[in-house]
Amino acid sequence: MKALVVKEFGGPLVLEEVPEPQPGPQEVLLRVKACAVDQFDLTIRDGKFAMADRVPIILGHEIAGVVEAVGGEVTSVSVGDRVTSTLYLTCGKCRYCLTGRETICADFKGYIGIHTPGAYAEFTTVPEVNLVKLPESISFVDGSVIANAIGTPYHALTKRARLQPGERIIITGAAGGVGIHALQLARLMGAFVMAVDIGGEKLSFARGFGSDLVFDAACGDFSKTAREWTNGEGVEAILELVGTTTFDWSIRSLGRGGRMIIVGSHTGTTLTTSPQAMIANEWEILGSRNVTRRELIEVVNLVASGRIKPVVTGVYPLEEAEAVHQRLRKQEICGRVVLEP
Ligand SMILES: [Zn+2]
Repeated sequence: MKALVVKEFGGPLVLEEVPEPQPGPQEVLLRVKACAVDQFDLTIRDGKFAMADRVPIILGHEIAGVVEAVGGEVTSVSVGDRVTSTLYLTCGKCRYCLTGRETICADFKGYIGIHTPGAYAEFTTVPEVNLVKLPESISFVDGSVIANAIGTPYHALTKRARLQPGERIIITGAAGGVGIHALQLARLMGAFVMAVDIGGEKLSFARGFGSDLVFDAACGDFSKTAREWTNGEGVEAILELVGTTTFDWSIRSLGRGGRMIIVGSHTGTTLTTSPQAMIANEWEILGSRNVTRRELIEVVNLVASGRIKPVVTGVYPLEEAEAVHQRLRKQEICGRVVLEP
């Protein structure tokens, strides 16, 4: 089969013929119909993700496809089913897996697209427990962005931020693939949204999805604007998708009882805050990790009903992945772009 292979960290994506993968007893073989491109793909191929410590790697963890074959112990899906997949390789046996918190699995096995070959290829194998069926009404292109770009902010906003109607939230990186879906979800939950991103095109993109206020992070600290927007109170919630560049400004924007949820940190991982301020304000600074399979089923329903719209701004053949990565690196992409092998 045709696949794009990372043969050395920092090197190019190499288009190669590789053997078609064979599903294990509890796995399925998928014919990849669409694979969305994530900022995380760049981190992996650059050799900047510690758990990605050996090549070759076939990237691609935002998958939609058709079941082509099933392992001998697979019972919940059949050949021909349309599916998407979560990206973590979990044990299915630890207390977290058994209580619906499998994204914090105690015996974490790694990632599809790093530790198993991903979907920058014509076929991939995925554990049965990762799969959720896609209804006919959801295209493969739209389906490919659901598990990560929509599922991640769904988990972050519902379970971690516990966002309430009428609350005010800042989303940093709001025009990106995760951010633009976070914006839609926050509005669906009845919150007011201040969208932070860089440049006029991204800000007008965020405005088009209903943000109540936009701020150009090229102008620096947004906390003064956030305070003015909230009559001096500060916001109830922040969804951090950026990292060190914006962490300080986000913390300065938090109101009393505020929750800051960290989902991304690609610009740097240092976070500084004052324990006294955390105590005095009862701030909650929380991490949030991807989406559970149960939540993914809920997100598929939201997309099927039309309440959340997958935002795909480009669809390209596998051969153009390198060009797509370069645009993503230059932060030129709004929403998600998708590869079709
Ligand atoms: Zn586990």
